[in-house]
Amino acid sequence: MVKEIICIVCPNGCSLRTEKNDGEVTVTGNKCPKGEEYAKSELLCPQRTLTSTVATAFSEHPVLPVRITGAIPKGEIKIAMLEINKIIVDTKLKCGDVIVKNFMNLGVDLVATDDVDIY
Ligand code: SF4
Repeated sequence: MVKEIICIVCPNGCSLRTEKNDGEVTVTGNKCPKGEEYAKSELLCPQRTLTSTVATAFSEHPVLPVRITGAIPKGEIKIAMLEINKIIVDTKLKCGDVIVKNFMNLGVDLVATDDVDIY
């Protein structure tokens, strides 16, 4: 199977031509080895990072922006969003504080990207 993808690792945006045969991926069009690495990851096990918001119990600060600390399999993103939508923060937090350690057992944490300043 032949597929064209754009490398998003750096601003060059190389157009990569990929071919997958029997689980082996060949890549052309990359200007550096990172493009080959990116293309293979995209075809064999695509990963994504995730940023979102969670609800809080505080009317003065009803939502809190959050992110996960690393990439997770693309196929887990929908379930991760459903899990994030269940969370209600009811304590004061600082930017960077962990809200859920080892989120969904995926080896990443869910952290606050802002403070919850309730006075
Ligand atoms: S292949 Fe290399 S040079 Fe091209 S976009 Fe990817 S990282 Fe940048």
